[in-house]
Amino acid sequence: MTEIAIHRRGLMLVLSSPSGAGKTTLSRRLLDSDPEIEMSVSATTRKPRPGEVEGKDYFFLDTEDFGIMRNRGEFLESAKVFGNYYGTPKKPVEDALARGRDVLFDIDWQGTQQLDESAPEDLVKVFILPPSAQELEKRLERRAQDPADIVAARMAKASDEISHYQEYEYIIINDDVDRAFAELQAILRAERLRRRRLTGLSNFVKQLREAL
Ligand code: 5GP
Repeated sequence: MTEIAIHRRGLMLVLSSPSGAGKTTLSRRLLDSDPEIEMSVSATTRKPRPGEVEGKDYFFLDTEDFGIMRNRGEFLESAKVFGNYYGTPKKPVEDALARGRDVLFDIDWQGTQQLDESAPEDLVKVFILPPSAQELEKRLERRAQDPADIVAARMAKASDEISHYQEYEYIIINDDVDRAFAELQAILRAERLRRRRLTGLSNFVKQLREAL
């Protein structure tokens, strides 16, 4: 028997949605249940919210340090969202992909566009929509958390975010979280099988054919 030496390059899974569409719940479930995927921890100039942990939820930086990292080219992408800066540190992502691990991103449409320009082959773009405007408003009201959180402002931002749905290849309408999660898993399962992510495949097929 010949040894199968096929390796898979990791993929970058971007989940975007207006806040309140259930993205955080779906991300958590995926990270808890799937050992092959890890979260990209972003840097931000936003102040930590109660309960947020440095290095786990975000790397909390001041504007100056954020600017230094950006000028050094240490971000894969960066953007200004709600008046704060956010960026994805490059090195952990590149290391994970090379090791065949997938990376999950919680970034907005601006960041997604930048990843699409720099690494379209590795990228899988999923957009999550709420089932209705009423449901989104209800969810936003339930979880208003920031001191200055104004639901109306978040709703306006949601409308802006949703206007970018065409830039994503997969759409999940989150009216039932179990179904939405199953759909997300199905996307990931299929994307992992893409031929372009596999190395060692041609040798494997060659050996296979020679043995026939
Ligand atoms: P929050 O401050 O509520 O955690 O995040 C606000 C918004 O910033 C969300 O839409 C989130 O997806 C986005 N975001 C978080 N990290 C990044 C990042 O590294 N890059 C970009 N472009 N957006 C981010």
